[in-house]
Amino acid sequence: MDQFDVVVIGAGAAGMMCAAEAGKRGRSVLVVDHAAKPGEKIRISGGGRCNFTNLNAAPANFISQNPSFAISALRRYTQRDFIALVERYGIAYHEKTLGQLFCDGSSRQIVDLLLTEMRQAHVELRLATSVESVEKTPQGFAIELSHGSVQCRSLVVATGGKSIPKMGATGFGYDLAQQFGLKIVETRPALVPLTLEPTMLERLTPLAGVSVDAVASCRKTSFAEAMLFTHRGLSGPAILQISSYWREGEEIVLSLLPGVNLFEELRAARAQNGRQALRTALSAFLPKRLAQLIAETEEGPANLADYSDKRLRAVDEAVNQWRFKPAGSEGYRTAEVTLGGVDTRELDSRTMEAKAMPGLYFIGEVVDVTGWLGGYNFQWAWSSGWCAGQAV
Ligand code: FAD
Repeated sequence: MDQFDVVVIGAGAAGMMCAAEAGKRGRSVLVVDHAAKPGEKIRISGGGRCNFTNLNAAPANFISQNPSFAISALRRYTQRDFIALVERYGIAYHEKTLGQLFCDGSSRQIVDLLLTEMRQAHVELRLATSVESVEKTPQGFAIELSHGSVQCRSLVVATGGKSIPKMGATGFGYDLAQQFGLKIVETRPALVPLTLEPTMLERLTPLAGVSVDAVASCRKTSFAEAMLFTHRGLSGPAILQISSYWREGEEIVLSLLPGVNLFEELRAARAQNGRQALRTALSAFLPKRLAQLIAETEEGPANLADYSDKRLRAVDEAVNQWRFKPAGSEGYRTAEVTLGGVDTRELDSRTMEAKAMPGLYFIGEVVDVTGWLGGYNFQWAWSSGWCAGQAV
C-alpha cells in the first residue's frame, strides 16, 4: 500500500493550490481526481479566459452562514498574492470591469501554472482515478482507489460543488463530510439563470438576446450589472448575482434604466414632440425591442401628448421598478457555483481542518463559502487551498 503524508481528492483550483503548497513544505503529496484532466472548471471559466481573482476581494463578497469564517484565509493569502504568482509566470492579464482580472490569453495558462507548481513540489497526480472508500485509521486515513489503496496522515477534500454534473461534479465531498459526522449547510444552485412562468416567458420571448445595464434587487441586496433576456428566462451578471440571494416564492425588482428619472424624461419628450409614440420616446433610452414591448404592455394612446402624468409615472415604474416572481432557476445544470456545503462551524478558519477529526481538511467550493460573480470563487479556492497547504 502506498504511503503519503497528504492525499488531496480533487485536482481543481483549491486542490492543486493546496497540493503545491504542501509539497513545497516537503510533504509527500498525492492528488487524485476521477476526471481525465485536471482543472477543467478553470479551463472553461470566464469564457475561456479565467476570471482568476478580483482586485477588490473582501469577506463582504462571500455568502456563508458564518460571514466571518472567510476573513482569516482571505487575509493570509490575498488576491495580491495570487496576482504576484500569475506575474511570476509571465501570464498577461487585464481588468475587465469591477476589479475582475482575466487572462489576456487562455485560462489553460492558469491550469499550467498550477501543474508546474505541483511538479516542482514533487506532487504526484493520478487522474481518471476514483475513490471507492475512505476509512479512519490510527495513523490517519486509508483510501481505497479504483487502482489500488493508499494511506495518508492528512486527507484534503477539494471536490468542489454540484454545479455542472456533466463535467464530473458530484456530492462526494458532502457525503464524506457526513460519513465523519460533519454537518452540511443545505446546498442549492447559485450564480444561475432564473426561469419565468410560461405566460411571462411567452410575453418576453421577443426580447431573447436583448441586454441592458440594470439593477437587480432581492430583499436588501442589489447588484448593478448587465442583464440578458434569454429563451428560457433571465440571465447576465446582474441576474446571476441576485440568484444567490433569491429564494423560491420571493420577488425580484429590476430597474432597467437605473439612474434615469424616466418620468421627467418622458415629460420633456412630450413637451418637445407630443406627436411621437411612446415606443419612439422610450427607444431613446432602451433597446428598440424592449421599448416596443413596454409600449405595447402599456396599451396607451397613440401619441405621447395624450399621456397623463399619471400614465407616464406608471411607465417609469414599469421600467424602473419591475417586480416579478421567478418560477425557479436553471439548476445545477448551468449554475456556476453551489451555495451551502460543509458547515464552517465544523472547520478551523485558519487551517480548514475539521475540529472533530484532526487530519481531515475541506477546501474550496465544498465548504459553505460562496463568492459573488467576478473572480471571488477562485480567490476562495486559492486562499482556502493555500491555508490548508500550510497546515497539512
Ligand atoms: P473544482 O474546481 O470544481 O474542482 C473539483 C475537482 O474535484 C474536479 O476536478 C472534479 O473532477 C473532482 N472531483 C469531484 N468529485 C470527485 C470524486 N468523487 N472523486 C475524485 N475527484 C472528484 N469562478 C471564478 O472565480 N471566476 C470565473 O471566471 C468562474 N467561471 C466559472 C464558469 C463556469 C462555467 C463554472 C461552472 C464555474 C465558474 N467559476 C468561476 C466557479 C469556479 O469554477 C469554482 O468556484 C471553482 O472551480 C471551485 O474550485 P474547487 O477546487 O473547489 O472545485
